[in-house]
Amino acid sequence: MPTGEKADVKSLHVDVLVVGAGLSGVGAACRLTQLNPDRSFAVLESRDSSGGTWDLFRYPGIRSDSDVHTFSYPFRPWTGTDLLASGESIRDYIRDTAREFGVEERIHYGQRVIAAGWSSGTARWTVKAETVDGLIEHTASFLYICTGYFSYDTGHVVDFPGRAAFDGPIIHPQFWPEKFEPRGKRIVVIGSGATAVTLVPALADEGAAHVTMLQRSPSYVLPRSGKDSIGDGLRRVLPARAAHRAIRAKNVVQNVGLYEVSQRFPGAVRKGLARLNAKFVGSEVVREHFTPTYGPWDQRMCIVPDGDFFTAIRRGAASVVTDTVQEFTRNGIRLTSGEELEADAIITATGLRIEVAGGITFTMDGTTFAPNERYFYKGAMFGGVPNLAVCLGYTNNSWTLRADLTSRFVSAVLARMTQTGAATATPRLDETIEDGEPPFELSSGYVQRSRHLLPKQGTTKPWTVKQNYFHDLRLMSARRVDDGTLEFAPLRVRPSVVVGH
Ligand SMILES: Cc1cc2nc3c(=O)[nH]c(=O)nc-3n(C[C@H](O)[C@H](O)[C@H](O)COP(=O)(O)OP(=O)(O)OC[C@H]3O[C@@H](n4cnc5c(N)ncnc54)[C@H](O)[C@@H]3O)c2cc1C
Repeated sequence: MPTGEKADVKSLHVDVLVVGAGLSGVGAACRLTQLNPDRSFAVLESRDSSGGTWDLFRYPGIRSDSDVHTFSYPFRPWTGTDLLASGESIRDYIRDTAREFGVEERIHYGQRVIAAGWSSGTARWTVKAETVDGLIEHTASFLYICTGYFSYDTGHVVDFPGRAAFDGPIIHPQFWPEKFEPRGKRIVVIGSGATAVTLVPALADEGAAHVTMLQRSPSYVLPRSGKDSIGDGLRRVLPARAAHRAIRAKNVVQNVGLYEVSQRFPGAVRKGLARLNAKFVGSEVVREHFTPTYGPWDQRMCIVPDGDFFTAIRRGAASVVTDTVQEFTRNGIRLTSGEELEADAIITATGLRIEVAGGITFTMDGTTFAPNERYFYKGAMFGGVPNLAVCLGYTNNSWTLRADLTSRFVSAVLARMTQTGAATATPRLDETIEDGEPPFELSSGYVQRSRHLLPKQGTTKPWTVKQNYFHDLRLMSARRVDDGTLEFAPLRVRPSVVVGH
């Protein structure tokens, strides 16, 4: 792993330029080696290391919050037996995969893409990247953006009144200080999402004097066994690859099933979850702190393996307060109710700042366009824009399920271009397209805050993004690349100036 190596600053021309070397970018590059061996490609990564999310986030206890078998690549078995996986093991898995598929040597680190311009005359993208040595330009026939969905520079920062008055450290989980020592400290974690729910038991286990989760409003918490016993059984009787496929299939059905049942029968799911939670902390605590006002799976559900979060509460190492911050004080936080929470450290698990397509400025023949002005074709390409794809995973299931479908779809588009001798693949807008809802269906704060940044959706296929794996499996299948909307065309040579007739 060339972490810390100096940026490779050669100008490149490749068939496919992938931007981002996180889970999606590495997966995309592996698919290119498997499915488009005739195409040259390179990966540009702004940081000095790969792994993306799983390298950036270093807070105690960091782990996946969806089952790791659907979160891992379909083409490389995950061999661990736990339901969820630690951040470190996911990072290692991404890096091992990159090495195994010969992708590592195609990653160019320390190159942050800031602009990409399409020229119809040459049917090429010119990509500008910032490096420590200044700007560098690359060209590519096809651009595939795998930059995730949030800003690496800043998290979502809430401007709490009196912030400066607090006498201890205020930490955002995205920028966890290596030297922070929780032992003996009274810690308040502000937030109620997956990060808060992971941090609370982890900080308690690391010897914090007490951890208080301060939430403005409750979230759904789903305790699940930390081990996948059916998966273990399958692994015992099947070879590794077959077991991986079978466990993934089982978990996809389970995850999609839970989401669909939650959407259709919210009352029953709400009751079931309340009963499950009450077994750990009693129905009074559930009523007060774990009864959200929204429906199950209207926001991402927090999975807690073996109820570790509830166990920390039950043994008195942690507690939950549902209230709002009036102001930070020298000694902690004054709440709207008047109560004061004393703290030696405050963790603001207030979320991410959404960034679509890595903050890159796009132009087409000199005219700037932004992703939010364009209709999203199959949740992967932009209406009217040639040879550009963006990789976005699921918000209601494992990210990788959709990310890999998108990469296979891009590979199928490239293969079709080779077959037909086309220089461009462009989703052609039809005149009757109507505006639908933005592509992410969650009511979570971070999705709602960023609605205006997301690409536009139509109301009918292929201009809608359904957060449903089975729907997408069909929609994005290689057999449906030639769907009458995606137009494959040769290089359009501009007629030279005609003198006379
Ligand atoms: C704490 C946390 C836990 C999560 N847990 C889960 C989970 O359990 N299950 C799940 O499905 N999802 C989870 N997610 C969502 C997670 O981000 C995705 O699952 C997945 O890791 C995204 O991979 P990615 O490669 O698309 O994006 P990222 O991991 O964000 O990687 C993007 C890469 O692109 C690079 N990049 C960005 N902009 C540029 C640019 N302009 N130029 C060059 N390079 C650029 C970045 O440096 C980074 O390396 C979690 C997210 C967070 C923050």
